[in-house]
Amino acid sequence: MYLPENVVNVLSDRHGITINNHRSVSGGSINHAYLISTNKGQLFLKYNPSAPHDFFEKEALGLHALKSSGTSLRIPDVIAVGNAATGTPGFLLMEYIEEGRSGNSYTFGAELAKLHQTRGEYFGFDTDNYIGSLPQQNEKYRDWIDFFREKRIAPQLRMAFDSGRLSKNLDVSWKRLSNELENLMPACKPSLLHGDLWGGNYLFDAAGTAVLIDPAVYYGHPEVDLAFSKMFGGFSEDFYRGYESVTPLEPGFRDRVPVFNMYPLLVHVNLFGGHYASQFERFLRSW
Ligand code: ADP
Repeated sequence: MYLPENVVNVLSDRHGITINNHRSVSGGSINHAYLISTNKGQLFLKYNPSAPHDFFEKEALGLHALKSSGTSLRIPDVIAVGNAATGTPGFLLMEYIEEGRSGNSYTFGAELAKLHQTRGEYFGFDTDNYIGSLPQQNEKYRDWIDFFREKRIAPQLRMAFDSGRLSKNLDVSWKRLSNELENLMPACKPSLLHGDLWGGNYLFDAAGTAVLIDPAVYYGHPEVDLAFSKMFGGFSEDFYRGYESVTPLEPGFRDRVPVFNMYPLLVHVNLFGGHYASQFERFLRSW
């Protein structure tokens, strides 16, 4: 597939990287992705001419935050980032991770639990970023429930009301559920999260180590990542056993999963509408 000339030029002029050949990689939901063979070895390139200017910078910051936690999960090294506002096209160049046939899910779960032991002083993050292609607000809060209400659910709900994807009269049901959140969610300290942990955002490398990709990091409730992992069927039982070997789940987790997952579900409503909107509506009206 076609590799944009302006990206090729930036890589060569600013980073001394010349591309011998490339092939496109499928699996991403938003960006064009390529395995490129270069004078510096095999690398992985993501590119999107219509993404917001700082889109890939924010992704790189997220990868950096995960890596800086000292986690034993593998996080790809970032080699170069292009911000469209500075005159370069938006792209992200990373080390290429060769995918293995299988991996150690138990260790993945255990290491995720350890990653969640990386604490912040606040809920939120130093900078806003993106979830999928949508903006994610990360203003710092001391209280998890306030953060969840005001920075996760409310902006997505407003977007869905404004676009007409959801009916505004759902607001009454949201208020009802919102008033229950203190009773539903156990208290927690702010944990470093991947933030978008569905099955497409990790892979196992050739050694069987889990690799985190495409994060939407912030400090939040650790159950956010676990709930997210169950959004499309769930990870293997070994993964959850591994997690619980480090941090046992608090009672009632199963019932909280759909409550935490209102956020990714709303993101899907705003990106795709359709049956996600009816699914969200059904869930909220059941409150
Ligand atoms: P998008 O941002 O478009 O969702 P992803 O970051 O999820 O794209 O990447 C798309 C696919 O490319 C992933 O499903 C994964 O299989 C593969 N991938 C992502 N990062 C790497 C990498 N560093 N090395 C090798 N393959 C990768």
